Order: sequence, then C-alpha cells, then structure tokens
Amino acid sequence: MNIFLLMIQYWSVGVSSPGELVELNEGKVRLLVYDLSRFLRPDGVYEPAWSPVFYNPAAVFSRDFSVLVVSTLELRNATVLDALSGCGVRALRYCVEATGVVKCFANDIDERAYDLIAKNVSLNKLQGVVEALNDDANVVMYRLKKSGVKLDVIDVDPYGSPTPFLRAASWAVRSGGFLGVTATDLASLSGARPWAGSRRYWCHLILTDVPKLVALRVLVGYAARVASELDRFIEPVAYAIGSYFIRVFYRVGRGATAADAMLSKSVGYLKYCSVCGFREYAHWFDEVTCRVCGSRLDYVGPMWIDRLVSREHVLRAREALPSFSYMSSASKLSKLLEYQLFEAESGALVPYDVVQMARRLKVNAPRVEEVVECLKSLGYSATRYYGAPTAVGTNGPYSAFVDCLKKSSLS
Ligand code: SAH
Repeated sequence: MNIFLLMIQYWSVGVSSPGELVELNEGKVRLLVYDLSRFLRPDGVYEPAWSPVFYNPAAVFSRDFSVLVVSTLELRNATVLDALSGCGVRALRYCVEATGVVKCFANDIDERAYDLIAKNVSLNKLQGVVEALNDDANVVMYRLKKSGVKLDVIDVDPYGSPTPFLRAASWAVRSGGFLGVTATDLASLSGARPWAGSRRYWCHLILTDVPKLVALRVLVGYAARVASELDRFIEPVAYAIGSYFIRVFYRVGRGATAADAMLSKSVGYLKYCSVCGFREYAHWFDEVTCRVCGSRLDYVGPMWIDRLVSREHVLRAREALPSFSYMSSASKLSKLLEYQLFEAESGALVPYDVVQMARRLKVNAPRVEEVVECLKSLGYSATRYYGAPTAVGTNGPYSAFVDCLKKSSLS
C-alpha cells in the first residue's frame, strides 16, 4: 500500500501511540497483544500489519489446523521452532496443546515482538519450555542446526512469501522432520501477478479458474525443488486453504536418489487451455495446441503433480479431532478432513471451477455436489475442497468433467 495513504489512514483513525496490551485467549493459551481496537481501517476491519507486533485473530484457523496436524505426526519429545513468531502464539500453542511436543523456540527479528514473546511465555508459565529468540529466522535455523539442536518441526509463517526461509528450513530440520509453511502472497503464487510469482517461485504462471489450488501446487513444487538442491526430498502430509493464505505441512527426508525419484515422479506441469478449460497434469510440457479446441495451449509449472495429503495422517487427524473440540475451528477442521480423505484415497486430482467452467461452456452453473456425484457414478474419484467452495477435483478426464457439468446443469 502507498505509504502516504497508510499514514493518512493511521492518522484519521486517531491512533497516536501504539496502544496498550490487552489479554485474550486462543486455544488453550493466554496472550498479550496490542489492543486490536486501535488498528482499525476506516471500514472497521482490524489491520494486523499496523500493530507494532503482528497478531491476526482471523488466522486462528491456520493455527488450529497446525496444532491438529503437529499433534498427529506421531512425534515424541519433539522440539518445534516457530521461526517467525510475532507474539509467540504458535510456539505457545504447540507446547501447550500439541501431542508429543515438549520444547519450542519462538523467534522474531523484531525486538518488540521478542519482548512480547517473553511476556507471553511468563503469562503462561512456560519458562524453560518455550524459549524466546530475537534474530533473523535464517540465522536462527543455521545456528540451531550447527549447535546440534534436533528440530522435529519448523513452522514458517511469514507475512507474504515463505521463499526466503525454505532453504534454511529444509537444511535445519532433522531427517524425517516436518515443515509447516504458510504463503499469503496468493496473487503471485496463483498467476494473478505472473512476473512476481515467476521470479519468486521459479516457474511459469498463468491465471487459471482454480487460483488457490494452483498456488498450493506451485508452492509445494518450489519446496520440493529447494529440498532437492540439498539432496533432500519431501512428502506432503496436509494442507489448508484460507481466505487469504495457504498452508502446507510436509516431511523432509534425506537422500539424493530419493530426491531424484521425487523430482521425476511428483514435479511437473499443468497443461491449461484458457479457451475451453482443458487441463491435465504432465511430467513434461510437450504440446502447443489444445487437443480439445485447437487454441494455443498454455501451462503452469514446474509444480507438484502428486498427492498433497497423506491418507494415514488424515485418518489419524480425524480420530484425534474430538480431543480438539475446544478449538474455535473444530467444525471447519472436520469438514476439511472429510474432503481430504477423498483426496488422500485417490492421489492427485485435477481441479476445475464449476462456475467458471459453466460460463465457458455456456450452461447454467449446477450444484457442485451434483457434479461430484456424477463423476463418482462414472467410476472416477471426485471431491470438493475446503476453502475453494466452487471447485471440484477429479482423476477423470476433461471429457468426463464436461459431461457431468452439462448433465448436472440440466437436472
Ligand atoms: N506466525 C505469526 C505471524 C507472524 S507475522 C502468527 O501466527 O501470529 C511475521 C513475523 O515475522 C513478524 O512478526 C515479523 O517481525 C517477523 N519477521 C519478518 N522477517 C523476519 C526474519 N527475517 N526473521 C525473523 N522474523 C521475521
């Protein structure tokens, strides 16, 4: 945002000082944060980036999801690094709520954030359990690795793109450990700002009708290539899509041969025709003409073209969910796992947006559920997505999706 506009807005809502700290609860922890009511935009919406220390109450879904995922990674006596911690909320929650976690580091480069983390550690009586650090996340990751600290999970939750931190995170996490990564630069990742996305994620991007689902695969594809530079490979475990973020968890293993195998099996392209909406995953981009309508065929990639969720993990998370019923996102998480179980059972699904495809084919948009049922009745796997309500994923071919869309539109 233009800095002058920001200053005028800041001044016009009457914020003259950073404000005092207020106490609130999230999950099972108590938190001191800067008084949210002092950082309201003219439309009344809280703007977390204006607070001296970042805390976004709306991101509770991302954090609830993360606590559930970490709890179901089958960890024992685990250490977690929350590399970009803000007020410390993730580290505190992992150490208090996540099964198997006994020690957390909460790091932030900002001194005010560090002070607030220290206050929040005391407030929750977690001295010795959660350790506050105040350095650049990359420095911290390389330093902890060098000093022999075994990091089972590293959480990378920045404001914007996680790319500056993924190499160090892939290096510092223990073999077989996990990374949780958030991206909020969805315009870049999804092809709405193709140049920014291309230079950050080293791939070719175009805007498709399923921007968040493409963003997810571009992010994971990038993570896979960064890990492979270090002779490491990744295995995605779980993901979540929010209104302004995407988040993935993946396991990082060691081995050059396994890294080679991952690249050849799981990283490729999405062929995409912007005219008729034909699409297909491919290991290589070798066609220039759409085989359905004859228009110029485009592509997105490299991206992850393999499964994004682990079946064992979804099953464990579903089983564990009742013990997390206190979470404000419990019902959202239950829906997310319900959809992801279909996905986990069927491998990589090709996503389509039902509304935009109906517009392309000049038919009325049918109910999303009906298209899913139709594809299943033809013997294909199909699912809806939590966080992309008008999208359908299927392992059926383009022609099956189109048939089902048309059929469902008439009924
Ligand atoms: N994870 C937090 C949100 C963090 S926002 C939550 O769930 O609430 C991103 C944070 O990263 C900010 O507090 C910012 O100060 C910090 N930050 C930015 N660049 C950093 C860097 N290079 N190293 C460590 N922290 C950084």
